[in-house]
Amino acid sequence: MAKKIVKTDLDFIKEIIANGGDSVKKCYQCATCSVVCNLAPNNSPFPRKEMVMAQWGMKDALLKDADIWLCHQCADCTAYCPRGAKPGDVLGALRKITIEEYAPVKFLAKLVSKPAMWPFAFLLPVVILLIDLMLNGKLQYLANPQALVDLSIEGEHSTVGKIVFAKLFPTVTGIDIFFLPAALFAVVCFWIGLSNYWKALNSERSYPVMFQGSIIGLFAGVIWEALTSARFKLCNTMKVRSTTHLLVFWSFVGLALTTATASVYEWVLRYPSPYPLYDPVKILGNISGIALIIGAIWMINTRSTLKVGTNSSFDWLLLIVVAGLGFTGMGAEIFRLMNLASIAYWTYFIHLVFVMFLFIYAPFFKIAHLAYRTLALAYSNLANRGEPDALQE
Ligand code: SF4
Ligand code: SF4
Repeated sequence: MAKKIVKTDLDFIKEIIANGGDSVKKCYQCATCSVVCNLAPNNSPFPRKEMVMAQWGMKDALLKDADIWLCHQCADCTAYCPRGAKPGDVLGALRKITIEEYAPVKFLAKLVSKPAMWPFAFLLPVVILLIDLMLNGKLQYLANPQALVDLSIEGEHSTVGKIVFAKLFPTVTGIDIFFLPAALFAVVCFWIGLSNYWKALNSERSYPVMFQGSIIGLFAGVIWEALTSARFKLCNTMKVRSTTHLLVFWSFVGLALTTATASVYEWVLRYPSPYPLYDPVKILGNISGIALIIGAIWMINTRSTLKVGTNSSFDWLLLIVVAGLGFTGMGAEIFRLMNLASIAYWTYFIHLVFVMFLFIYAPFFKIAHLAYRTLALAYSNLANRGEPDALQE
């Protein structure tokens, strides 16, 4: 029988503890967690084996373990653990470390990693937007946004006397030239991070991968699960998470569609914003914005009153960004409709800070779990890992 050498890394244990898995050492391997987890396949279930590996500091193995992404942090295991070892939190810490490990531009990952660094993380989009305003000759209007009302957009005299956000950030030179490269940066960083992770998964397979069926079919199945929150619905302790997760997820889908359709209005139909409230784009945007706010408040309330497990700063940063996007987006519109120029323009500026933050940091903080989990689930399906029984019922 071939010997397997266990590589341990004591610093990795400290890293797990520092990232929210501070209870890891309490585990005494009773396996209750693996039994109660509705998402663990029968064959080599999690999270007990991850708890063992974490206690041994088996960094290499854990950073190539797709099972940490099959966990949806429902906390059923944490609720039943007789030792208070909080396996759900330990797996959450491992997912955070995994994202940071494989993503490029470590400097950006570090900025969002610790709350003490968050002010600097937010400073970056603020500085980018101030440069944007300076290059467009609009910087002085931040001190006096009211003056923008009397201006017109070039060739659009109908905008005189109105609050139009394009007067502060012109569509092409203020928005497109800055936000499109930021979005492209996010795509490239995701591509590099996910490619690194895919190579790692395949370099030391925790289970054999057998390519079955088409790749597109496999990913389609995984994406369908995400769209319907199928695995979240199997949670018992935090059942509400499937609803809040769906609400926020579909809000983002709605807002992405709104942005895409607004681009068609702008570039193809030559129909500039602001659109009337009865316009389909406006209706979709407003419904999505309201749903995002409701989802954010609901998530924050659920997290604040958590009876099982703990919240990590990783979770809270995503909640702050989701809530910030929702409140500032809807706030900017409401203040515009109320004709409160100064507060409307400032709220819009802050909204763009959140949007830019999302673009720059998406590959490095919790929202990246969408992509990593999709990849890991596809890998598990390829490996014929076996669906949990509860998912097949
Ligand atoms: S984490 Fe808790 S339930 Fe799981 S094996 Fe360890 S002690 Fe048992
Ligand atoms: S948090 Fe939920 S999904 Fe994750 S291991 Fe525990 S019981 Fe399973």
